[in-house]
Amino acid sequence: MAKESLSPNECRDMLLAVADKIIESEPILTDADRALGDGDHGIGMERGMKAVKEKLEGQDFDSIDKPFTTMGMAMMSSMGGASGAVFGTLFRAGGKALAEAESLGAAQVAAFFTAAAEGVQKRGGAKPGDKTMVDALVPAAEKAEEMKSESLATAIAAVAEAAEAGKVASEDLIATMGRAKTLGERSLGKPDAGAVSVSIIVATMSDYVAS
Ligand code: ADP
Ligand code: MG
Repeated sequence: MAKESLSPNECRDMLLAVADKIIESEPILTDADRALGDGDHGIGMERGMKAVKEKLEGQDFDSIDKPFTTMGMAMMSSMGGASGAVFGTLFRAGGKALAEAESLGAAQVAAFFTAAAEGVQKRGGAKPGDKTMVDALVPAAEKAEEMKSESLATAIAAVAEAAEAGKVASEDLIATMGRAKTLGERSLGKPDAGAVSVSIIVATMSDYVAS
């Protein structure tokens, strides 16, 4: 049975599932960043997720913002580099938008992704079309706003589809930011590594809600 809403500790467990899935996906993320960047995205995300697990495991939460902001801060302090700031901001800015909420439903999913997309763009300066994780995150946030009156499971499944579509669409973009910028047109035909991470993150959230 799909879950109607998530308690703070269910949010924690969902994020622990995300951490495990990203760790398991390290080779995929490494390959994606090797194609267009310097090949360290998988290792960086794995390091971040190990730090997240240490912070979240065994901790009780009484509001839903805390597991998300704790995750973001653990990523920022353990990963370093562009993606530590960018992915840490995703969870920290998104989590802050949930302050004091007692459960996560479709409306909170929309608040999370909208604040995450705004926070990441403000922090990193990338806009849609620059071939970064923003190209998966912004369509996810737009879909989440559309779906905020639906059930949690329906909403998060649609958000995951939008992130996946954004990742696939990033294949047809020419990188204008970060390390892939120097490749110019040679960056065509492959997805952005950070967009691959975003699609895995949201798909894992959706799987947790559906289970
Ligand atoms: P680094 O670029 O320091 O090697 P990673 O390889 O871990 O860091 O992460 C690269 C990913 O980070 C890119 O694929 C892209 O999605 C994302 N990224 C990098 N810079 C930005 C930025 N300014 N805004 C948004 N995302 C960014
Ligand atoms: Mg890299």
